[in-house]
Amino acid sequence: MRKTAFVNHEHCFWHDGGPCSVFAEPGGHVQPAGAAEHPETKRRLRNLLEVTGLMDQLTLLKGELAEEQDLLRFHSQDYIERLEAMSEAGYGQAGEFAPLRKDSYLIARRSAGQAITAMEAVLTGQCDNAYALCRPPGHHAERDRGRGFCLLGNIPIAIMTMMARYDVKRVAVVDWDVHHGNGTQQAFWERDDVLSISLHHDNNYPLNSGGVEERGEGPGYGFNINIPLPPGCGIGAYLHCLDEVVIPALKRYRPDVIVVASGYDASAMDPLGCMLLNSDTYAVMTERLLSVSDELCNGRLVIVHEGGYSEGYVPFCGHAVIQTLAGSHIRCDDPACDEIAQWGGQALQPHQASFVERIKGSLIELNN
Ligand code: ZN
Repeated sequence: MRKTAFVNHEHCFWHDGGPCSVFAEPGGHVQPAGAAEHPETKRRLRNLLEVTGLMDQLTLLKGELAEEQDLLRFHSQDYIERLEAMSEAGYGQAGEFAPLRKDSYLIARRSAGQAITAMEAVLTGQCDNAYALCRPPGHHAERDRGRGFCLLGNIPIAIMTMMARYDVKRVAVVDWDVHHGNGTQQAFWERDDVLSISLHHDNNYPLNSGGVEERGEGPGYGFNINIPLPPGCGIGAYLHCLDEVVIPALKRYRPDVIVVASGYDASAMDPLGCMLLNSDTYAVMTERLLSVSDELCNGRLVIVHEGGYSEGYVPFCGHAVIQTLAGSHIRCDDPACDEIAQWGGQALQPHQASFVERIKGSLIELNN
Protein backbone atom coordinates (compact mmCIF):
# COMPACT_ATOMS: atom_id res chain seq x y z
CA MET A 1 0.00 0.00 0.00
CA ARG A 2 0.97 3.62 -0.45
CA LYS A 3 0.47 6.40 2.07
CA THR A 4 -2.25 8.54 0.50
CA ALA A 5 -3.41 11.89 1.84
CA PHE A 6 -7.10 12.70 1.53
CA VAL A 7 -7.73 16.42 1.91
CA ASN A 8 -11.30 17.38 2.65
CA HIS A 9 -13.20 20.00 4.61
CA GLU A 10 -16.96 20.14 5.22
CA HIS A 11 -17.03 23.87 4.53
CA CYS A 12 -16.33 23.19 0.84
CA PHE A 13 -19.75 21.54 0.58
CA TRP A 14 -21.38 24.75 1.84
CA HIS A 15 -20.57 26.85 -1.22
CA ASP A 16 -23.91 27.80 -2.79
CA GLY A 17 -24.17 29.11 -6.32
CA GLY A 18 -27.84 30.01 -5.90
CA PRO A 19 -30.56 29.41 -8.47
CA CYS A 20 -28.37 28.45 -11.43
CA SER A 21 -30.93 26.10 -13.07
CA VAL A 22 -28.55 23.25 -13.85
CA PHE A 23 -26.37 25.17 -16.35
CA ALA A 24 -28.21 28.38 -17.23
CA GLU A 25 -29.68 31.32 -15.36
CA PRO A 26 -33.39 30.83 -14.61
CA GLY A 27 -35.84 33.08 -16.41
CA GLY A 28 -37.73 33.07 -19.69
CA HIS A 29 -38.31 29.45 -20.57
CA VAL A 30 -35.80 28.16 -18.00
CA GLN A 31 -37.53 26.78 -14.92
CA PRO A 32 -35.57 27.51 -11.72
CA ALA A 33 -33.60 24.54 -10.38
CA GLY A 34 -30.37 23.82 -8.55
CA ALA A 35 -26.96 24.09 -10.21
CA ALA A 36 -25.34 21.05 -11.85
CA GLU A 37 -22.34 21.84 -9.65
CA HIS A 38 -23.90 20.97 -6.33
CA PRO A 39 -22.38 19.61 -3.12
CA GLU A 40 -23.87 16.13 -3.25
CA THR A 41 -21.67 14.96 -6.15
CA LYS A 42 -18.68 15.45 -3.89
CA ARG A 43 -20.15 14.82 -0.47
CA ARG A 44 -21.36 11.42 -1.63
CA LEU A 45 -17.79 10.52 -2.59
CA ARG A 46 -16.61 11.39 0.91
CA ASN A 47 -19.52 9.35 2.34
CA LEU A 48 -18.74 6.34 0.14
CA LEU A 49 -15.13 6.31 1.34
CA GLU A 50 -16.43 6.14 4.89
CA VAL A 51 -18.94 3.38 4.19
CA THR A 52 -16.49 1.09 2.37
CA GLY A 53 -13.80 1.71 4.99
CA LEU A 54 -11.26 3.04 2.49
CA MET A 55 -11.20 6.31 4.42
CA ASP A 56 -9.66 4.50 7.40
CA GLN A 57 -6.63 3.67 5.26
CA LEU A 58 -6.02 7.28 4.21
CA THR A 59 -4.16 10.10 5.94
CA LEU A 60 -6.91 12.63 6.56
CA LEU A 61 -6.00 16.31 6.27
CA LYS A 62 -8.26 19.36 6.52
CA GLY A 63 -6.27 21.65 4.28
CA GLU A 64 -5.11 25.17 4.91
CA LEU A 65 -6.96 28.36 4.02
CA ALA A 66 -5.13 29.83 1.03
CA GLU A 67 -3.73 33.26 1.90
CA GLU A 68 -4.46 36.29 -0.26
CA GLN A 69 -0.77 36.51 -1.21
CA ASP A 70 -1.03 32.98 -2.63
CA LEU A 71 -4.16 33.82 -4.64
CA LEU A 72 -2.32 36.83 -6.09
CA ARG A 73 0.37 34.58 -7.52
CA PHE A 74 -2.23 33.83 -10.22
CA HIS A 75 -5.22 36.19 -9.87
CA SER A 76 -5.37 39.95 -10.20
CA GLN A 77 -5.84 42.13 -7.11
CA ASP A 78 -8.92 43.66 -8.70
CA TYR A 79 -10.58 40.26 -9.20
CA ILE A 80 -9.86 39.13 -5.65
CA GLU A 81 -11.34 42.38 -4.27
CA ARG A 82 -14.47 41.99 -6.43
CA LEU A 83 -14.86 38.36 -5.38
CA GLU A 84 -14.56 39.24 -1.72
CA ALA A 85 -17.06 42.12 -2.05
CA MET A 86 -19.65 39.97 -3.88
CA SER A 87 -19.26 37.22 -1.31
CA GLU A 88 -19.77 39.69 1.52
CA ALA A 89 -22.83 41.18 -0.20
CA GLY A 90 -24.24 37.65 -0.40
CA TYR A 91 -24.62 37.27 -4.15
CA GLY A 92 -22.90 37.87 -7.46
CA GLN A 93 -21.46 36.45 -10.67
CA ALA A 94 -17.70 36.00 -10.73
CA GLY A 95 -17.95 35.50 -14.51
CA GLU A 96 -20.00 33.39 -16.93
CA PHE A 97 -21.61 30.43 -15.14
CA ALA A 98 -19.78 31.30 -11.92
CA PRO A 99 -22.45 32.35 -9.43
CA LEU A 100 -21.65 32.81 -5.78
CA ARG A 101 -23.34 33.60 -2.51
CA LYS A 102 -22.47 34.35 1.10
CA ASP A 103 -19.04 33.10 2.21
CA SER A 104 -18.13 31.76 -1.22
CA TYR A 105 -14.84 33.69 -1.21
CA LEU A 106 -13.82 32.10 2.08
CA ILE A 107 -14.88 28.66 0.86
CA ALA A 108 -13.03 29.11 -2.44
CA ARG A 109 -9.90 29.97 -0.44
CA ARG A 110 -10.48 26.76 1.50
CA SER A 111 -10.77 24.85 -1.77
CA ALA A 112 -7.52 26.31 -3.15
CA GLY A 113 -5.90 25.59 0.23
CA GLN A 114 -6.82 21.93 -0.11
CA ALA A 115 -4.86 21.70 -3.35
CA ILE A 116 -1.93 23.46 -1.62
CA THR A 117 -2.04 21.07 1.34
CA ALA A 118 -2.26 18.01 -0.94
CA MET A 119 0.79 19.11 -2.93
CA GLU A 120 2.68 20.01 0.21
CA ALA A 121 1.98 16.61 1.81
CA VAL A 122 3.58 14.94 -1.20
CA LEU A 123 6.50 17.34 -1.68
CA THR A 124 7.52 17.14 1.99
CA GLY A 125 7.29 13.34 1.96
CA GLN A 126 4.51 13.28 4.57
CA CYS A 127 2.59 11.10 2.11
CA ASP A 128 3.40 9.23 -1.11
CA ASN A 129 0.53 10.73 -3.06
CA ALA A 130 -2.59 12.80 -2.36
CA TYR A 131 -6.20 13.47 -3.30
CA ALA A 132 -7.81 16.87 -2.72
CA LEU A 133 -11.61 16.91 -2.72
CA CYS A 134 -11.83 20.56 -3.75
CA ARG A 135 -15.05 22.51 -4.13
CA PRO A 136 -15.66 24.87 -5.84
CA PRO A 137 -13.61 23.44 -8.71
CA GLY A 138 -10.85 25.53 -10.29
CA HIS A 139 -9.69 24.72 -13.81
CA HIS A 140 -11.89 27.25 -15.64
CA ALA A 141 -11.05 30.20 -13.36
CA GLU A 142 -8.95 32.81 -15.13
CA ARG A 143 -6.68 35.54 -13.82
CA ASP A 144 -9.41 38.16 -13.59
CA ARG A 145 -12.68 36.25 -13.68
CA GLY A 146 -14.44 33.09 -12.60
CA ARG A 147 -15.92 30.79 -15.23
CA GLY A 148 -17.76 27.47 -15.39
CA PHE A 149 -18.52 27.07 -11.65
CA CYS A 150 -14.88 27.89 -10.80
CA LEU A 151 -13.96 30.89 -8.66
CA LEU A 152 -10.23 30.41 -7.97
CA GLY A 153 -7.62 28.48 -9.93
CA ASN A 154 -6.93 25.80 -7.31
CA ILE A 155 -4.20 24.05 -9.29
CA PRO A 156 -2.31 27.14 -10.56
CA ILE A 157 -2.43 28.65 -7.05
CA ALA A 158 -1.11 25.42 -5.50
CA ILE A 159 1.68 24.99 -8.07
CA MET A 160 2.81 28.62 -7.84
CA THR A 161 2.73 28.49 -4.04
CA MET A 162 4.73 25.26 -3.95
CA MET A 163 7.29 26.67 -6.37
CA ALA A 164 7.72 29.64 -4.01
CA ARG A 165 8.02 27.47 -0.89
CA TYR A 166 10.03 24.51 -2.15
CA ASP A 167 12.64 23.58 -4.66
CA VAL A 168 10.19 22.46 -7.35
CA LYS A 169 11.49 23.08 -10.85
CA ARG A 170 9.12 21.24 -13.18
CA VAL A 171 5.47 20.33 -12.74
CA ALA A 172 3.20 18.51 -15.20
CA VAL A 173 -0.57 18.88 -15.13
CA VAL A 174 -2.81 16.27 -16.76
CA ASP A 175 -6.40 17.50 -16.98
CA TRP A 176 -8.87 14.73 -17.85
CA ASP A 177 -11.99 16.69 -16.99
CA VAL A 178 -14.22 16.54 -20.10
CA HIS A 179 -14.01 20.34 -20.45
CA HIS A 180 -10.95 22.33 -21.45
CA GLY A 181 -8.61 23.40 -18.63
CA ASN A 182 -8.52 26.98 -19.93
CA GLY A 183 -7.53 28.52 -16.59
CA THR A 184 -4.49 26.29 -16.15
CA GLN A 185 -3.54 26.96 -19.77
CA GLN A 186 -3.72 30.71 -19.18
CA ALA A 187 -1.75 30.51 -15.92
CA PHE A 188 1.28 28.84 -17.51
CA TRP A 189 0.92 30.07 -21.11
CA GLU A 190 4.36 31.66 -21.24
CA ARG A 191 6.17 29.25 -18.90
CA ASP A 192 8.23 26.17 -19.57
CA ASP A 193 8.41 25.08 -15.92
CA VAL A 194 4.86 23.74 -16.07
CA LEU A 195 3.68 21.35 -18.77
CA SER A 196 -0.11 21.56 -19.18
CA ILE A 197 -1.92 18.72 -20.94
CA SER A 198 -5.69 18.84 -21.31
CA LEU A 199 -7.85 16.03 -22.74
CA HIS A 200 -11.32 17.34 -23.40
CA HIS A 201 -14.32 17.22 -25.69
CA ASP A 202 -13.51 19.39 -28.71
CA ASN A 203 -15.10 22.83 -28.42
CA ASN A 204 -17.50 21.99 -25.62
CA TYR A 205 -16.83 24.35 -22.71
CA PRO A 206 -15.53 26.98 -22.96
CA LEU A 207 -16.40 27.46 -26.62
CA ASN A 208 -13.52 28.45 -28.91
CA SER A 209 -10.94 27.27 -26.39
CA GLY A 210 -8.66 24.24 -26.25
CA GLY A 211 -7.59 23.75 -29.87
CA VAL A 212 -4.45 21.83 -30.85
CA GLU A 213 -2.89 25.04 -32.16
CA GLU A 214 -2.95 26.63 -28.68
CA ARG A 215 0.57 25.67 -27.66
CA GLY A 216 1.76 28.49 -25.41
CA GLU A 217 3.97 31.46 -26.22
CA GLY A 218 7.53 32.59 -25.75
CA PRO A 219 9.41 30.21 -23.44
CA GLY A 220 6.09 28.40 -22.91
CA TYR A 221 5.71 27.45 -26.57
CA GLY A 222 5.24 23.69 -26.83
CA PHE A 223 4.54 23.28 -23.12
CA ASN A 224 0.78 23.51 -23.52
CA ILE A 225 -0.75 20.43 -25.13
CA ASN A 226 -4.43 20.32 -26.00
CA ILE A 227 -6.10 17.08 -27.01
CA PRO A 228 -9.57 18.06 -28.24
CA LEU A 229 -11.27 14.67 -28.52
CA PRO A 230 -14.27 13.97 -30.73
CA PRO A 231 -17.52 13.34 -28.79
CA GLY A 232 -18.37 9.76 -27.84
CA CYS A 233 -14.89 8.65 -26.82
CA GLY A 234 -14.97 5.51 -24.69
CA ILE A 235 -12.57 3.30 -22.80
CA GLY A 236 -10.44 2.35 -25.83
CA ALA A 237 -10.01 5.95 -27.03
CA TYR A 238 -9.05 7.37 -23.63
CA LEU A 239 -6.49 4.65 -22.85
CA HIS A 240 -5.02 4.85 -26.36
CA CYS A 241 -4.66 8.60 -26.01
CA LEU A 242 -3.05 8.24 -22.60
CA ASP A 243 -0.54 5.67 -23.86
CA GLU A 244 0.25 7.31 -27.19
CA VAL A 245 0.23 11.02 -26.32
CA VAL A 246 0.05 11.84 -22.61
CA ILE A 247 2.56 9.38 -21.16
CA PRO A 248 5.21 9.94 -23.87
CA ALA A 249 4.88 13.71 -23.32
CA LEU A 250 5.39 13.22 -19.56
CA LYS A 251 8.43 11.05 -20.19
CA ARG A 252 9.95 13.70 -22.45
CA TYR A 253 9.30 16.42 -19.88
CA ARG A 254 10.47 14.57 -16.74
CA PRO A 255 8.51 16.52 -14.09
CA ASP A 256 9.30 16.65 -10.36
CA VAL A 257 5.63 16.05 -9.58
CA ILE A 258 2.50 15.23 -11.61
CA VAL A 259 -0.83 16.91 -10.83
CA VAL A 260 -4.11 15.58 -12.23
CA ALA A 261 -7.15 17.81 -12.70
CA SER A 262 -9.62 15.00 -12.18
CA GLY A 263 -13.08 15.72 -13.48
CA TYR A 264 -15.54 12.85 -13.62
CA ASP A 265 -17.68 14.43 -16.30
CA ALA A 266 -16.10 12.15 -18.94
CA SER A 267 -18.16 9.37 -17.38
CA ALA A 268 -20.97 7.77 -19.34
CA MET A 269 -23.48 9.00 -16.76
CA ASP A 270 -22.62 12.69 -16.81
CA PRO A 271 -25.29 15.26 -17.73
CA LEU A 272 -22.70 17.80 -18.98
CA GLY A 273 -20.41 15.45 -20.88
CA CYS A 274 -20.61 13.35 -24.07
CA MET A 275 -18.07 10.61 -23.29
CA LEU A 276 -18.42 6.99 -22.15
CA LEU A 277 -16.04 6.21 -19.28
CA ASN A 278 -16.81 3.95 -16.32
CA SER A 279 -15.19 3.84 -12.90
CA ASP A 280 -12.78 1.04 -13.92
CA THR A 281 -11.32 3.27 -16.62
CA TYR A 282 -10.60 6.01 -14.09
CA ALA A 283 -8.79 3.38 -12.01
CA VAL A 284 -6.74 2.24 -15.01
CA MET A 285 -5.84 5.81 -15.98
CA THR A 286 -4.73 6.45 -12.39
CA GLU A 287 -2.69 3.23 -12.39
CA ARG A 288 -0.88 4.28 -15.57
CA LEU A 289 -0.07 7.72 -14.19
CA LEU A 290 1.11 6.18 -10.92
CA SER A 291 3.40 3.93 -12.89
CA VAL A 292 4.89 6.81 -14.89
CA SER A 293 5.23 8.91 -11.73
CA ASP A 294 7.15 6.02 -10.12
CA GLU A 295 9.48 6.06 -13.09
CA LEU A 296 9.92 9.83 -13.27
CA CYS A 297 9.35 11.43 -9.88
CA ASN A 298 9.32 8.93 -7.00
CA GLY A 299 5.57 8.37 -7.32
CA ARG A 300 4.72 12.01 -6.56
CA LEU A 301 1.16 12.20 -7.89
CA VAL A 302 -1.40 14.74 -6.67
CA ILE A 303 -5.01 14.43 -7.79
CA VAL A 304 -7.28 17.45 -7.52
CA HIS A 305 -11.06 17.00 -7.91
CA GLU A 306 -12.59 19.20 -10.63
CA GLY A 307 -15.97 18.68 -12.35
CA GLY A 308 -18.35 15.73 -12.53
CA TYR A 309 -22.09 16.26 -12.32
CA SER A 310 -23.70 12.86 -11.95
CA GLU A 311 -24.63 12.75 -8.30
CA GLY A 312 -25.05 8.99 -8.56
CA TYR A 313 -21.91 8.12 -10.49
CA VAL A 314 -19.12 10.54 -9.45
CA PRO A 315 -18.65 8.74 -6.10
CA PHE A 316 -17.82 5.42 -7.81
CA CYS A 317 -15.29 7.03 -10.15
CA GLY A 318 -13.66 8.99 -7.32
CA HIS A 319 -13.51 5.90 -5.10
CA ALA A 320 -11.81 3.94 -7.91
CA VAL A 321 -9.17 6.66 -8.28
CA ILE A 322 -8.48 6.91 -4.55
CA GLN A 323 -8.40 3.12 -4.08
CA THR A 324 -5.81 2.92 -6.86
CA LEU A 325 -3.75 5.78 -5.42
CA ALA A 326 -3.63 4.02 -2.05
CA GLY A 327 -3.04 0.55 -3.54
CA SER A 328 -5.89 -0.68 -1.34
CA HIS A 329 -7.86 -3.90 -1.74
CA ILE A 330 -11.05 -2.17 -0.59
CA ARG A 331 -13.23 -1.96 -3.67
CA CYS A 332 -16.70 -0.55 -3.86
CA ASP A 333 -19.40 -2.29 -5.83
CA ASP A 334 -20.20 -0.05 -8.81
CA PRO A 335 -23.50 -1.37 -10.15
CA ALA A 336 -23.08 0.28 -13.58
CA CYS A 337 -19.42 -0.45 -14.35
CA ASP A 338 -19.76 -3.72 -16.29
CA GLU A 339 -22.84 -2.59 -18.16
CA ILE A 340 -21.16 0.62 -19.37
CA ALA A 341 -18.14 -1.41 -20.51
CA GLN A 342 -20.42 -3.39 -22.84
CA TRP A 343 -21.99 -0.33 -24.46
CA GLY A 344 -21.38 0.17 -28.17
CA GLY A 345 -18.48 2.41 -29.10
CA GLN A 346 -16.21 1.48 -26.19
CA ALA A 347 -13.48 0.04 -28.42
CA LEU A 348 -11.10 2.44 -30.14
CA GLN A 349 -12.88 3.61 -33.32
CA PRO A 350 -11.01 4.28 -36.59
CA HIS A 351 -11.75 8.02 -36.55
CA GLN A 352 -10.47 8.22 -32.97
CA ALA A 353 -7.27 6.34 -33.87
CA SER A 354 -6.61 8.70 -36.77
CA PHE A 355 -7.26 11.70 -34.50
CA VAL A 356 -4.60 10.42 -32.07
CA GLU A 357 -2.18 9.91 -34.98
CA ARG A 358 -2.72 13.53 -36.03
CA ILE A 359 -2.02 14.78 -32.49
CA LYS A 360 1.11 12.62 -32.28
CA GLY A 361 2.26 13.96 -35.64
CA SER A 362 1.80 17.55 -34.54
CA LEU A 363 3.82 16.93 -31.36
CA ILE A 364 6.66 15.22 -33.26
CA GLU A 365 6.74 18.20 -35.59
CA LEU A 366 6.90 20.46 -32.52
CA ASN A 367 9.81 18.54 -30.97
CA ASN A 368 11.81 18.82 -34.16
ZN1 ZN B 1 -15.85 19.69 -16.51
